[in-house]
Amino acid sequence: MALLDRALVRLLPAVPKPVVRRVSSRYIAGEELGDAVRVVRQLNGEGKLATIDVLGEEIASPDEARAIAGTYREVFEALERERLDSNVSVKVTALGLKLGYDLCRENLEAVVAHAAERGNFVRIDMEDASTTDDTLRLYRELRAEGHENVGIVLQARLKRTLADVAALAELRPNVRLCKGIYLEPAEIAFRDFDAVRTSFAQVLHALWDAGCYVGVATHDEWLLEEAKRGVEARGLGREDYELQMLLGVRPALGVELVREGHRLRIYTPFGRHWYAYSLRRLQENPKIAGYIAADTLRVFGR
Ligand SMILES: Cc1cc2nc3c(=O)[nH]c(=O)nc-3n(C[C@H](O)[C@H](O)[C@H](O)COP(=O)(O)OP(=O)(O)OC[C@H]3O[C@@H](n4cnc5c(N)ncnc54)[C@H](O)[C@@H]3O)c2cc1C
Repeated sequence: MALLDRALVRLLPAVPKPVVRRVSSRYIAGEELGDAVRVVRQLNGEGKLATIDVLGEEIASPDEARAIAGTYREVFEALERERLDSNVSVKVTALGLKLGYDLCRENLEAVVAHAAERGNFVRIDMEDASTTDDTLRLYRELRAEGHENVGIVLQARLKRTLADVAALAELRPNVRLCKGIYLEPAEIAFRDFDAVRTSFAQVLHALWDAGCYVGVATHDEWLLEEAKRGVEARGLGREDYELQMLLGVRPALGVELVREGHRLRIYTPFGRHWYAYSLRRLQENPKIAGYIAADTLRVFGR
């Protein structure tokens, strides 16, 4: 990332919300469920699958957490009604983890049960390291209760992840593997770009060795090549794995992956709590300074 872009990442919280909103609009389907439905319909039409995320990590009360769980019920209904090919992704903080483990568990269980009623699947996103243990515990508890339509996310950035794979292996979890967006302390996380890549490749092979279904979630072409080589060498069929990307990130690369015959799932967030998610996406955009400058000039130029 260029120096100016890096400097701007640090200043992002000071950028006015309307600017953040405009420059991050490519990453979010919109505020309403209808927006997500429209975007997923388009993605399906392009041969892509989706996973819908109801944005909500800024929630502050148990009622708001329950409302997010309720919105997921509406999402499943809409997906069935519209015959769309999409599962959902949930954040444990949006379901109330910071307000209480039991509250979150109750909400998560309700979402997973609604998904099961409609033959759908729930991916539990992984958030910052303060939530890793609780998130894995919630996942284990759901599996122990017999819920099979639920999957987890592991982050290559965390040094613990290979050990987590070994500990989870007997459950043969359905895993999304990503680098991990949260910047964690050096004691628990790799900070070096190549070390994260190496970890990603190691974890990916460890998951495949354990017989897991993996959603390889990255826009990093080096890692995508590594994954494609693994698929080939292991003789995996189209249904045995998937690639995953974020809405609004490297869409041309996505088109290419679909053309090559891979199953590709696009992470599609919607909702009114868009700010925290938008900041994280902008923080990773290598051309963020240019986008913000262009937006500011556009506004002043009116
Ligand atoms: C489907 C999906 C689900 C995810 N779920 C989680 C999760 O649950 N928990 C979690 O911690 N993280 C999650 N992430 C985020 C992930 O951890 C990374 O932060 C993010 O994907 C960027 O890493 P990368 O592997 O694409 O590699 P990078 O090296 O960061 O990016 C590779 C290239 O992609 C492009 N790019 C990446 N991000 C952007 C952007 N925002 N705007 C424009 N271009 C960009 C750039 O060209 C960059 O050079 C998820 C990512 C995906 C794709």
